[in-house]
Amino acid sequence: MINEQRLLQRFIRLVETDSPSGQEGKLRDLLAEEFERLGCRTMEDGAADLVGGDSGNLLVNIPGTLDTESLLFVAHMDTVQPGTGVKALVEGDRIISAGPTILGSDDKAAIAAMLEALEVLRERKLPHPPLEYLFTISEEQGLMGSKVFDFTRVKARLAYVLDSGGEPGCIVVRSPCQNEIEYTVYGKAAHAGISPEQGLNAIQVAAKALAVMPCGRIDAQTTCNFGTIEGGVARNIVAPSCRIKGEARSLQREYLDKITDELVQTFTNTVEANGAQVEVEIKFLYPEMKLDPAEEVVELAIAAAQSIGLAPQLVSTGGGSDASMVNGAGIRCANLATGMNSVHTTDEYILVKDLVDDARLVLAIIEQAGRKWTQVV
Ligand SMILES: [Zn+2]
Repeated sequence: MINEQRLLQRFIRLVETDSPSGQEGKLRDLLAEEFERLGCRTMEDGAADLVGGDSGNLLVNIPGTLDTESLLFVAHMDTVQPGTGVKALVEGDRIISAGPTILGSDDKAAIAAMLEALEVLRERKLPHPPLEYLFTISEEQGLMGSKVFDFTRVKARLAYVLDSGGEPGCIVVRSPCQNEIEYTVYGKAAHAGISPEQGLNAIQVAAKALAVMPCGRIDAQTTCNFGTIEGGVARNIVAPSCRIKGEARSLQREYLDKITDELVQTFTNTVEANGAQVEVEIKFLYPEMKLDPAEEVVELAIAAAQSIGLAPQLVSTGGGSDASMVNGAGIRCANLATGMNSVHTTDEYILVKDLVDDARLVLAIIEQAGRKWTQVV
């Protein structure tokens, strides 16, 4: 049913259209053109102004042929660097990047699959629910597009993000919530050689505090990390300040709150006990995703995967995605694996077979939802 040549050609065209984060404009134009050709209404939001960049998020409304609720699919338009001037090459059973760039199957495999599914629905005149396709910007910069998207524009109650590694059939049902934590320690500057006793070294105080802090894996669900440290003014000046950036993640909100409290308290107490001052800033980056294997959004994906001969597998992940924000907006959303491999490296590739399975899976989910929602009970 899937037209492999059409899918492959479109995928290559998509990856060869540059769209590094903040410069998704060209890809947005291409997508708007494709969807308008297919008779769909597209709408760009004002995220470009909020996030900075040349494109907003693109929402596509695909009228259903069934009188049911609608279903949302989400993919991100942006890629990481080096991602400009991509040349794709089909080599044996896979698609690779021919040059010194990433391929961009993250997340253009998803976009290609969503478009191919729509082509098949049209071509075969298959009955389907109303669909909403959302293409976000700057996902790679910390879910920036989905963070500012107004989800009240979407009617769907259930959604699928296609943006996970792993074989098609793999369904991410759990992902962590995350806090960014920034500590600034204030000591006192003094000449390091003439009057060190008049100073208070912020770097040393920070080091003492860090030495007694929890770090790394806390438990099966919770992790924390200090990622960067910067401070001081010059070799011969007692460091007046020092800044540390870190994070904490957990699959459970209460554990995140608990480890964050502990990180703040331990740090603050140690710094103050050493006579310095500290400012702590906590930013909640994204909420957790926690789907029940028995709930509808998961059930539909499992049934769809089985219907096309894929082995469904429910997994948990340690990272956030647009699915975190979709769930946070109250829309039940699973993140589906697309088969993208070695992403964010120049070795990135995707198997042609997986790309085809992505399109088959999108189509199968639409079919399952259509069937379930029109069943007379
Ligand atoms: Zn991605």
